Amino acid sequence: MRTRVDIYGAGPAGLVAAINLAMENFKVHLFDQHGIGGNLEWHPSIQTTVLKPERTWEYIGIDLSDCFRRVNSITFYRYGREKVFVLENMYVCERGPRKGSLDIRLYEKAINLGVTFHLSNKLDVDRLEPSRNTVVATGLETSVYWQLGIPCVSVYGYRGAKRTDRDTILISYMEKCTNYDFAYLAADRGLLFALLFSRQKLAMHNLNKFQQILKATEGIQINKWTYSTGAIPTTSRLFHDDLVLAGTLSGMIDPFLLHGISGALTSGKIAAQVFVDRDRAVREFRWLARNFELKKRLKALSVRLPLKQLTLPLMMLVDSRLRGVGFI
Ligand SMILES: Cc1cc2nc3c(=O)[nH]c(=O)nc-3n(C[C@H](O)[C@H](O)[C@H](O)COP(=O)(O)OP(=O)(O)OC[C@H]3O[C@@H](n4cnc5c(N)ncnc54)[C@H](O)[C@@H]3O)c2cc1C
Repeated sequence: MRTRVDIYGAGPAGLVAAINLAMENFKVHLFDQHGIGGNLEWHPSIQTTVLKPERTWEYIGIDLSDCFRRVNSITFYRYGREKVFVLENMYVCERGPRKGSLDIRLYEKAINLGVTFHLSNKLDVDRLEPSRNTVVATGLETSVYWQLGIPCVSVYGYRGAKRTDRDTILISYMEKCTNYDFAYLAADRGLLFALLFSRQKLAMHNLNKFQQILKATEGIQINKWTYSTGAIPTTSRLFHDDLVLAGTLSGMIDPFLLHGISGALTSGKIAAQVFVDRDRAVREFRWLARNFELKKRLKALSVRLPLKQLTLPLMMLVDSRLRGVGFI
């Protein structure tokens, strides 16, 4: 008889886990409280990630090259100063429910492999059967951290999007309005997407200022914005009691710059690996998360230091010398 695994959360981490388990002939049930493409308060979105595509596809056993486009350069606006960086390994991808997004692409693969989906189906921790193999990959969803008792910090974001005919772009902002975190503007596949993100509460004046900066730097005005909150963990962990964790919930998200897409993909593979070769899964999780604590401390320090205009970019430079969490 085929062994059953239940997965909660059909984001990239949960879907990669499902695909890998289905390829290993497990019977996979995937539950999500929303539809494929997750929470529509956050998506559709254009997201950016550091990635070594060939190595990542080989590692996760799935070729996703048609979902990612390379960004040749990124413009940084840091406290009024503009700088263009030519980058290696920087990619954008679309997240959410639109055809061709990363989520839909993974969903199609999972369906083809016989994964059973239970959409509009929310995780209820009290109803989990202890004897059942379970992966939890519920991303930023705050209530899951509370229910499981996983220490976390809140995150806040203003998201704005509109249609565009601009080619792929990536612009990053670090200004007073970002509360020492960051904001970015990205375009791809006809969608222009802006996110103002912070670990401290954001107020209307932060958004107003960001809108002014978007207008001044790129001549862009986005009229519709949504405000959402979520949570990220304070440590990285592969297990919580009998549960296997994946993606953001497992800490496979960079505490400094939040390069979470590559982390979600690789940790989905690791979560599946737990049911095939547990020791190997533990080893690889440690390897991919080894800079989590260091980066967390670096981030905390950077927020406390004076003269942010100088010290934050400097700390980002130090951070960029460390391997990103979840980055192969
Ligand atoms: C707007 C936005 C922009 C971002 N930009 C970037 C970026 O530019 N670069 C980057 O690397 N990272 C970015 N991130 C972070 C990145 O999206 C995450 O790191 C990545 O999505 C993590 O994948 P995941 O599978 O762990 O979680 P998610 O993609 O969040 O998926 C979680 C899934 O779980 C489901 N779920 C939640 N709660 C429950 C529940 N109780 N029961 C059942 N299902 C549940 C949700 O509906 C969702 O489908 C961004 C995040 C957001 C929201």
